[in-house]
Formats: sequence, structure tokens, C-alpha cells
Amino acid sequence: MAKWYDSTVIRIEDASATTKRFWLEIDEAGNFDFRAGQFITLDLPIGEKRLQRWRSYSIASAPDGSNVLELCIVHLEGGLASGYFFNDVKVGTALRFKDPDGMFVLPEKIEKDLVFVCTGTGVAPFRSMLLDLYGQNKPHRNIHLIFGTRYREGILYQKDFEKLVEKMPGFSYSVALSREETLPPGGQLFDTCKGYVHQVYLEKYATVRPDVQFYLCGWTKMIDEAVENLVAKLGYDRAQVKYELYG
Ligand SMILES: Cc1cc2nc3c(=O)[nH]c(=O)nc-3n(C[C@H](O)[C@H](O)[C@H](O)COP(=O)(O)OP(=O)(O)OC[C@H]3O[C@@H](n4cnc5c(N)ncnc54)[C@H](O)[C@@H]3O)c2cc1C
Repeated sequence: MAKWYDSTVIRIEDASATTKRFWLEIDEAGNFDFRAGQFITLDLPIGEKRLQRWRSYSIASAPDGSNVLELCIVHLEGGLASGYFFNDVKVGTALRFKDPDGMFVLPEKIEKDLVFVCTGTGVAPFRSMLLDLYGQNKPHRNIHLIFGTRYREGILYQKDFEKLVEKMPGFSYSVALSREETLPPGGQLFDTCKGYVHQVYLEKYATVRPDVQFYLCGWTKMIDEAVENLVAKLGYDRAQVKYELYG
């Protein structure tokens, strides 16, 4: 039986013009247990039927033994749930959600290089995984985060990842901006390119290796194209590509 949690929004911050960060504190104290990469499903007051009301969101924070978790949500034009989050949810709003779910998690023992590919709020589970690996000092090999968005102001959690580049051995960070005319300087902390996430991994991982595992997160168009590129075009084994589809 699923367990439901009652929570209260305790903080809201803008992450970009169209994206906000929401912190939820679970009303019962103690450790909220989940695996980095998992999502929660909320029952929102946006419809009559269950299917109209339920929406899933990846947990963007790492499991830290507390009863607070963070979500990162983009406002979709005409979107019922994201519209509710942007227009109605305030500090103090009560939100109810079902226990964490999903298999988009890292193995207990990391034996391959990891390549995380995402666009927009698809970065959420990767932030959770990276903060968890770093915070718990878990052994890992190289990890490459490839983040894509349209303009530089849409880069999410840039400071967090820049800090990790400095502190976490083997971690690298690439940003692909599809519509930005002049690229911000990436410097030593990350590299930037004009274009889509696809060109980054197509170039860097063009030679197929068995010791690399791809994780993709985001919306259908990006995921379909990445699976096609990695498996059909480059020849990676299908098992080397895991994904979380947002819709
Ligand atoms: C496992 C999982 C985890 C998720 N995690 C997150 C997360 O961390 N952050 C987050 O922001 N979302 C996440 N989502 C997506 C989220 O659940 C909702 O689908 C999203 O917020 C849209 O819901 P909505 O009610 O606002 O839009 P809806 O009312 O369902 O749709 C609104 C409109 O948006 C259009 N639309 C649908 N998809 C897209 C798209 N990709 N781009 C543009 N328009 C589109 C629809 O055609 C429709 O017209 C996740 C989804 C899943 C399944």
C-alpha cells in the first residue's frame, strides 16, 4: 500500500524566468527516505479525477536524513499542474504526495563512467545523484553532466555544478545553449557550446566503449533523439542507456 505524506511548502525561489524551486517540509518529523534520482507523485487540487490531479516530479535534493525535499518545476504554457505551482502555491501551502518511486537511480557499486544528459528541469534527478555521491563520499568513476537549454539565463543549478567540478574528482560539466548568440565563458569550470546536448555526447563518446553508462532525463523529443543517436547511430548497447521520461 502506498504511503501518503502531508507536507508544507516552506520556501520558493526563482531558478530562471520559467522555472522555480520549491522546498517541501513533510509534516511528520524524521528522515524522509528515498534514493537519489527518484520522483514523488503529488495529488494536486486541479481536477476531479485521479488522473487529472496526479503529477510526478523528480526530487532535486539529495537524501540527507531530513524531512525537507526540493522540487524544480518549469511553467508550461497552459499546464494545469505547473500553472498551479506558479500561480497558487505559496509558502505555507499544504501539498500531499505519495512515497518516492522510480528506478532511475545509480547502482550501489558504480563500475562505469557515467554520462548524464538532460534539458531544463530534467537536471533534477542528476543534481540529487551528484550531491548524494559527493555528500556521502561514494566511490565513482568519471561523471559527465551535459545540460541543455535555450538561453544562458535558463541554466539551472550552475553554481552547484561549478562547485562540484572543483571538489569532485572525475566530474565534468558541459552546457549546450541552443539559441544564445554569444556564449558565456565556461572557462575551467565548464564548457559551453552553441547547439543541442546531442552534439556534445556525439563528439565526446563517438567511439563505443563498454564501460560507459548513459542516463537521459527530460522530454520525449530529446530522449527519442538521444536513444536513436546512441543506439542506432553510434552502436551502444541498449542496456547502456537508461532514461526518465517527463512527458
Ligand atoms: C517521473 C517524472 C518526473 C518528472 N519530474 C519533473 C520535474 O522534476 N520537473 C518538471 O518541471 N516536470 C517534471 N515532470 C513533468 C510533470 O509531471 C508534468 O507533466 C509537467 O509539470 C506538466 O504538467 P502540467 O499539468 O503543467 O501540464 P499539462 O496540463 O499536463 O499539459 C499542459 C500543456 O503542455 C504541453 N506539453 C506537454 N509536454 C510538453 C513539453 N515537453 N514541452 C512543452 N509543452 C508540453 C501539453 O501539450 C499541454 O498543452 C515529470 C514527469 C514524470 C513522469
